[in-house]
Amino acid sequence: MARWDPWRGCRRCSDGCLHCYIHKGDARRKVDTGDIHKTKDFDKPVARLKNGEYKMKPGLVYLGFSTDFLIEEGDPWRGDCWRMIRQRPDCTFLFLTKRIERFRDCLPGDWGGGYENVVVCCTVENQENADRKLSVFRDLPIRHKCITAQPLLGPIDLEGYLEGMELVTVGGESDPGARQLDYDWVLSIRQQCIRKNVSFEFRQCGTYTIKDGKRYHIPTRELTKQARAAAINWKAQVL
Ligand code: SF4
Repeated sequence: MARWDPWRGCRRCSDGCLHCYIHKGDARRKVDTGDIHKTKDFDKPVARLKNGEYKMKPGLVYLGFSTDFLIEEGDPWRGDCWRMIRQRPDCTFLFLTKRIERFRDCLPGDWGGGYENVVVCCTVENQENADRKLSVFRDLPIRHKCITAQPLLGPIDLEGYLEGMELVTVGGESDPGARQLDYDWVLSIRQQCIRKNVSFEFRQCGTYTIKDGKRYHIPTRELTKQARAAAINWKAQVL
């Protein structure tokens, strides 16, 4: 799979942004995350080799993982991105956003019911922003929709929003000051997904994870490994 960062930089806008990995990485390198600017990779999907083939191979492309693709500062540049996405139907472009309420303002004129090669993941972290964001997300014209509940900061009832979703991913927060993840919250979302026949993935534990009433401090290198070991991922059944 490939990665495409047409621009980089972001501003915190949601409860889950507190320990944002981009801000943390930038702080270590003394880079200002608030400086949102186009990158040298802006044209990456349509860049060609000398023989005329695209440099970027067909397949899944993670879009905007150093920003939020729907951030206001990207408005002047996003139209060119949609054109490149349209030019590459052999690639599937996946982006996460904490700004789903901006979605309709960010669309190209020919979006219609959505491009077949775009997957949008709406990020939610607690019940309050799940209700606010998913009630918008549910009605948007998008061909492929996923929900990302990471970092999960509390129990969430999202069952009423699962119609039409392809995948729900869940994970805890990773940081020395992380807010704790209760494994019961994870299992609850898993059950909701099973009831609605939506695929579910547990991506990572939290640095502080509560299980059976006991609080565990899990090293960063173990977070995804421990989630995999739980073996609770679930695939939607073909009906
Ligand atoms: S929206 Fe995403 S990239 Fe932007 S600050 Fe929040 S967590 Fe970081």
